Amino acid sequence: MTFQNTKAFAQQLDAEDPLSKYRDEFHFPKVNGKKVIYFTGNSLGLQPKRTKAYVDEIMTDWAELAVEGHFYAHKPWWDYQERFANPLSKIVGAKPSEVTVMNTLTVNLHLLMVSFYKPEGKRFKILCEAKAFPSDQYMIQSQVKFHGYKPEDAIVEIQRREGEHNIRLEDVLAKIKEVGDELALVLIGGVNYYTGQVFDIKTITKAGHEAGAKVGWDLAHAAGNIKLELHDWNVDFAAWCSYKYMNSGPGNASGCFVHEKHHHNKELPRFAGWWGHNKERRFKMEPDFDPANGAEGWQISNLPVLSLAPYLASVEMFDEIGMDALIEKRDKITAYLEFILHEIDKEVDSTFEIITPLAPSERASQLSVFLHGEGRKLFDYLMKNGVITDWREPNVIRLAPVPLYCSYEDMYEFGQVLKAGILNS
Ligand SMILES: *Cc1c(COP(=O)(O)O)cnc(C)c1O
Repeated sequence: MTFQNTKAFAQQLDAEDPLSKYRDEFHFPKVNGKKVIYFTGNSLGLQPKRTKAYVDEIMTDWAELAVEGHFYAHKPWWDYQERFANPLSKIVGAKPSEVTVMNTLTVNLHLLMVSFYKPEGKRFKILCEAKAFPSDQYMIQSQVKFHGYKPEDAIVEIQRREGEHNIRLEDVLAKIKEVGDELALVLIGGVNYYTGQVFDIKTITKAGHEAGAKVGWDLAHAAGNIKLELHDWNVDFAAWCSYKYMNSGPGNASGCFVHEKHHHNKELPRFAGWWGHNKERRFKMEPDFDPANGAEGWQISNLPVLSLAPYLASVEMFDEIGMDALIEKRDKITAYLEFILHEIDKEVDSTFEIITPLAPSERASQLSVFLHGEGRKLFDYLMKNGVITDWREPNVIRLAPVPLYCSYEDMYEFGQVLKAGILNS
């Protein structure tokens, strides 16, 4: 398709967009009385309007039923999390028994590492990407120290080549081979938070297994954004937060995946609690732990139902739309944004460099743009003029044209504000 940098053309794309009606299902902050152009859905997704009713329902049930709400609420609380199994399993390509919701992301990765990072003899190393999200770096460092190793001995980082912004698949595979029988675990972010690079989860997982390692994924920027087939790709475990692309609200609960092949392995160490106990017997208050079947066997505490409510609203919306439709629009609107950036680049005397991979298979709903020669002033100008982006040193803005609620017209308008901002600065 040939794009045009005109308002009429953008409006035409919106008119043809089968997902355009979902835009009205979200609350947008306003600047100067106008809805903002929201590019930070990869950091905190917008609030769906339907979410409040899910929360209100629990507040009402709690007021009217108190403890009886565990069993007699509209959506009983004792097994509230089971409502996620079907829709969430479709979003991440899993069997319903392989997913559950609990805790928060870094906490879940720690808990899953208890089960899946079991250093032994010479096999004690963890492979991760260089410049991983800081929480992942701290988590991995603290895990290896907990097992008595030094981070410099036990952590192997996959580097970018000199002058390149992204990690090459061939370099990941070569590193896995090189570490070989010293490799205990591969743990990478499925979509890099900074560049938006999408990793080939299937190929890397297979290579990790061939080296005899376990393979887990941090899917913070992947869940609700890219097509996942966690079961078929044979991923051992994964976790993701729900407040980025999944619009569940600040700091909200995490989803996690444990592959079916591990469900009946009683040898796996795990940190247990009563909510992971055999469900039929949970309230018998027995002394010995008997894990529930599936990912739910990793649950610890009874669930924070009030925070699961917004997540459930969101998961049901994703289920209604389906990942395929979302991905189709994602690719088109991202391509349109890329086109707009190049058009504006030609019109002003400035150079942008998109550091996100250009290949559609290696990117999703994010373009990270290096603004050579522009300063923080430009970012402030954008914010003041209703374009919400996110700034990272040195001079990189991250733009997430989230297909659920961003419009093609937003992309066009963004180009106009960007141009005015550069000419003004
Ligand atoms: C957002 C993000 C996190 C955040 O972790 P929390 O435990 O939810 O605070 C962790 N890892 C990655 C890769 C992220 O993008």
